[in-house]
Amino acid sequence: MREMVEQIREAARSEGFAAMGVAPAVTSQGFHQLVEWIESGYAGTMDYIERRLDAYRHPNAVLQGTKSIIVLALNYDASDRFPVPVGEVDESLAFGKTARYTWSGIDYHDVIHPKLKRIVRLIRDQIPDANARGIVDTAPLMEREVAVLAGLGWRGKNTLLLNKQWGSYFFLACVLVDVELPADAPHESSHCGTCTACLDACPTDAFPGPGVLDASKCISYLTIENSGLPAPSLRAGIGEWAFGCDICQEVCPWNRRPSRQQNESSGDRETGGLRGHRESQSDSESRDGWLELTSLFTMTDDEFRERFRRTPFWRSRRRGMLRNAILVLGNQKRRDAIELLFEVLNDPDPSLRAIAVWAIGQMQDSAAMERLKTCRGSETDPVVLAEFPQ
Ligand code: SF4
Ligand code: SF4
Repeated sequence: MREMVEQIREAARSEGFAAMGVAPAVTSQGFHQLVEWIESGYAGTMDYIERRLDAYRHPNAVLQGTKSIIVLALNYDASDRFPVPVGEVDESLAFGKTARYTWSGIDYHDVIHPKLKRIVRLIRDQIPDANARGIVDTAPLMEREVAVLAGLGWRGKNTLLLNKQWGSYFFLACVLVDVELPADAPHESSHCGTCTACLDACPTDAFPGPGVLDASKCISYLTIENSGLPAPSLRAGIGEWAFGCDICQEVCPWNRRPSRQQNESSGDRETGGLRGHRESQSDSESRDGWLELTSLFTMTDDEFRERFRRTPFWRSRRRGMLRNAILVLGNQKRRDAIELLFEVLNDPDPSLRAIAVWAIGQMQDSAAMERLKTCRGSETDPVVLAEFPQ
């Protein structure tokens, strides 16, 4: 079996995975914390976690008879600094920030699944009776806990898996197999020390304590998973983030290590990681890390599908992306977007009308405020009416 693990390790390397470890399939130690987390309301509207809660107890719920889990890490863009100079090219364009994992412009599931399939095939070639299943964050599995067991790193105070060499800018993927493979030594130490940079930097105060995330306050949840409107108290904290948020990773010293930067400079275009990919886009539409916002409003549903179907942004759908764009325009106080926001007041979707009313109110423009008052009379939806200034 050791020889087979080495073959899998070699295959993982040539597929572009930065790290691989093997963990035994055991009952989750963190299950009771997951229950507490849900009971505290920290999952927000992500009801699917509670609906299949029991399945998180043991990997058997994902693949019956699982004995071992191969855990793999695939890097994504870990550039040293967030690119800044948008608007210097064309002041009339409005941009919002996007999380680093979207910078490739590709849905990472589409990249990782074929890699996992090839690893599963390798296992079956060696052991034809083996059952194996590759997963990327869609199955009820405590992936970060399993990754620690597989020796890939420790859980940081920002709840993410941290690796001394790679920081935290990577996706985790797993291959579950019903064959016992020799396991790697678990990662038993934590290297956060007295640092609290991530906890201190979160703009929406989403960490009730070290290692605990109130997802219902997290910008990643608010701009991606949540289909509703963020509470008024959280909107300013969303700032310029149009999709996801990286702040608690950007401030982490483990994402600034020279060793990581050396590895980064070696590039992974050859090894198949996600940093090498760039979907071809017009420079005015999208620049690494920034998404042009105003064009979203003129796209039809079909155009949106065509443009974003195979990108990470598809998860929010057009409605979610428009909501995010309106939030960012409001936070940026883009007065040149006022006309566009008034047009949104004719949208059939009350949540878009509601957030547009809020955004117009952020502009501190007296003419716009007067005009808003006249719009109030024709609005009937209570959610939208609640957003009008009193
Ligand atoms: Fe806070 Fe952003 Fe980290 Fe979410 S991703 S916990 S909003 S810093
Ligand atoms: Fe740990 Fe500091 Fe990184 Fe937070 S910022 S995960 S406390 S090392």
